[in-house]
Amino acid sequence: MCGVVGIFGNDYVAQDMYDALICLQHRGQDATGIITYDGEIFHTQKDLGLVRDVFHTRHMQKLLGYVAIGHTRYSTIGGGAVEDAQPFLSQSFGVMLAHNGNVFNSYDLKKELLEHDHRLVNSNCDAEIILQLFTKELARQNDKSKKSDLSVKQISDAVKSVYARARGAYSVVSYIANKGMVAFRDPYGIRPLLFGKRKNGLAYDYIFASESIVLDVLGFEFVSDVGPGEMVFIDEKTRAVHHVKVMPKTLTPCVFEYIYFARPDSVLNGISVYKAQMRMGEKLADKVKKLKLDIDVVMPVPDSSRAAAVAMADRLGIKYREGLVKNRYIGRTFIMPGQKIRKKSIQYKLNPMKLEITGKKILLVDDSIVRGNTSKQIVQMIRNAGAKKIYLAIFSPPIINPCLYGIDIPTREELIASSFSVEQVRKFTGADALIYADLKDVFEACISGNPNVKDMCMACFDGKYKTGDIDEKVLKKNAASRLNDKSCGQIEEEFETGPEKRKKGQLNLV
Ligand code: SF4
Repeated sequence: MCGVVGIFGNDYVAQDMYDALICLQHRGQDATGIITYDGEIFHTQKDLGLVRDVFHTRHMQKLLGYVAIGHTRYSTIGGGAVEDAQPFLSQSFGVMLAHNGNVFNSYDLKKELLEHDHRLVNSNCDAEIILQLFTKELARQNDKSKKSDLSVKQISDAVKSVYARARGAYSVVSYIANKGMVAFRDPYGIRPLLFGKRKNGLAYDYIFASESIVLDVLGFEFVSDVGPGEMVFIDEKTRAVHHVKVMPKTLTPCVFEYIYFARPDSVLNGISVYKAQMRMGEKLADKVKKLKLDIDVVMPVPDSSRAAAVAMADRLGIKYREGLVKNRYIGRTFIMPGQKIRKKSIQYKLNPMKLEITGKKILLVDDSIVRGNTSKQIVQMIRNAGAKKIYLAIFSPPIINPCLYGIDIPTREELIASSFSVEQVRKFTGADALIYADLKDVFEACISGNPNVKDMCMACFDGKYKTGDIDEKVLKKNAASRLNDKSCGQIEEEFETGPEKRKKGQLNLV
């Protein structure tokens, strides 16, 4: 997951871009970057770390220009090295680009670009591959027409050439120097991308962003979601906005955006994340009701479970209580690279309030269980704080398949529910009961009342990869290349306490 923003304005836009990236910090904390263009020169600042640490006043003063592309990075493909930080710039073509998603054949494409096209690829980041594919076709189109000015058709053909080669999910924002801004979403629209505008004197500023919260904060009016397989091009000379359906397929947005990743105050594909989580909570409450558990309080694991927990408490007619206090200065553990960091941070991240826990029978609400280690530690923490019973309610189904579309759950071995039954997972976490949501309920909670979304990607739960090009061979290849990727050295650490022991039948069931 990443956050991506493109602003096509009329005057200095770097401050708006900084504010936009702050809004999208939750989508990636590994690295961040901004490239601006002032009509003649591109200005770049990117580095590892959080937005507030990477951009200082001296950087902001140099990020001149009326166009900017910004990015917050969460590594899936490529390493955690600074050369993998986005956006990328092709100086020779005068094109900058960033994306959110994952191109799962990027290693093959990189090899091909190096060996057949003799193109230098300087990073392990798939955004650079998209940039190379895009500029290669732009150059070909330009040569073919013998014109120095590219037409909208030629630009959309370059987007089509990316669709033809890049497999996976990608929401891309790009800018061609003195020509205009180009944004496009993969043919299935798996990752979100929204388009907005804002009056600036007699003209308009335009924005593309991963979440609607950015538009709200910066005072942009929502225009539309970029459709699946759609390109939106803003012509710099005429300021005309062109919408081109380049390769539209059925919209299948990632269901996990609504469960965990997106901010609750965002609306993606016309679906409010907050409302979707509330409906997930209500449906899970109906399932819990049937179990006739003796519950004193409903308690969320903060922050991503609050909306669902409130809805569950309302539906069950049971008190809602906050019993875990989060240190807001520690990042989200799920998206930190490396299990050692993850394990350490959970101890600092949540503090149990004995006042609300001791002697209580608690319905603990969380969004998902990935490896199981975090849930186990939280249950243990609450148990140590004196809880009488802990019933763990998860408002997503068991995650049993890897994601090749941009979320860091790439091998089945890492997923506890992939190898073990619900009862075994319950024992591993130490909870007194474990209730998962049903997939049908989660799907209905998301699409409820939205006629535009008829299907969703739920492959990590049901194994149905909507792009139709992922089979066991691809999954194996992806797992192997991840193990070979030096950036993924943390996997071996994860095996120390997780799946490796489970595979050998050494799981220490409580
Ligand atoms: S596999 Fe899961 S996490 Fe990945 S895009 Fe699909 S729903 Fe989202």
